Amino acid sequence: MMYYPRMKAAVLETINAPLAVVDVGLGALSSGQVLVKILVSGICGAQLQEIAGNKGNAKFVPHLLGHEGCGIVEDVGPDITRVKKGDKVILHWRKGDGIESGFPTYTYKGKSMPSGKVTTFSEYSIVSENRITPVSSDTPNDLCALLGCGLSTALGTIENEAKVRPGESVMIVGQGGLGACLIKAARIAGANPIIAIDIHDKKDIAASLGAQLFINGATQNIGETLKNALGIKEVNVIVETSGNVDSIRDTLPLLAGGGRYIMVGQLPPGASIEVTNANHLFGGEGKMIKATQGGAFSPTKDIPRYVQMYRDGKLNTDNLITHRTSLDKINDAITLMRYGKASRIMIDIQN
Ligand SMILES: [Zn+2]
Repeated sequence: MMYYPRMKAAVLETINAPLAVVDVGLGALSSGQVLVKILVSGICGAQLQEIAGNKGNAKFVPHLLGHEGCGIVEDVGPDITRVKKGDKVILHWRKGDGIESGFPTYTYKGKSMPSGKVTTFSEYSIVSENRITPVSSDTPNDLCALLGCGLSTALGTIENEAKVRPGESVMIVGQGGLGACLIKAARIAGANPIIAIDIHDKKDIAASLGAQLFINGATQNIGETLKNALGIKEVNVIVETSGNVDSIRDTLPLLAGGGRYIMVGQLPPGASIEVTNANHLFGGEGKMIKATQGGAFSPTKDIPRYVQMYRDGKLNTDNLITHRTSLDKINDAITLMRYGKASRIMIDIQN
């Protein structure tokens, strides 16, 4: 059994409290586990939900967080075949090829602290082999982190779930990091027009990513603004990232016949959604409402394809990242996200 040096990590110690940036010990690697030195991690909206205890995680505190990152393999446990020491890897929560390991163990305040099979808010992480995908060493770190969750979820949602065809209108509700990636993904699919909605003023960010119209859902009537600005009453695809039931009720009636309404933002536990005038769901060839898990992207199959799209100039990460920070300042970054000030925030873990 080999143990590793202690490290700095952001621990969720108490639900709805700031993360504790503290010293944590790493356990030994068991079958199917890989030790990864984390270079960059994104902060996903899912972590805000976890901090609020909305992901069934409240009983597991203290625990580590983070599920999209870029790192370098530092050591491999027994039975690992897909990566070796020194490989650059993308860390993701969706399962790819490789072993599904047991839960890794860390030590915190003298006690054992079990944690999830992928976490990224720490200098090192013990990760299940099927939660990492190797990439060539010259793949940009930020691209890698974005492909761990947000950007891959967006590309998968547009391709696999909404099946957007060129010329279809797409409305993205919620302009956080995922919403920003979705505008980009819709653009790659040839969507036109692309409409972005948020309750904070994100007009400039949305325009920089390629949205034709931004509507402030807090101050403007979405349906009327759509009609006045673009001369359309309905859209072919709506992707909802906020997980807000009022937002879903208000935007569902704007779906055109044959349209697809995709929910990516998870609803709070116990929430209900309301379909007003539900008869309109039979419009055209009928409409679809679907909840997606990460846009159904397959890390092993899709990540290499997305990296190649980047190399071919078909995918870029311009304007997706609005802020960078260090692990020490992670709570400030989380506050920025909560107040709707950011798209993706990257944490430079080794700074
Ligand atoms: Zn995520």
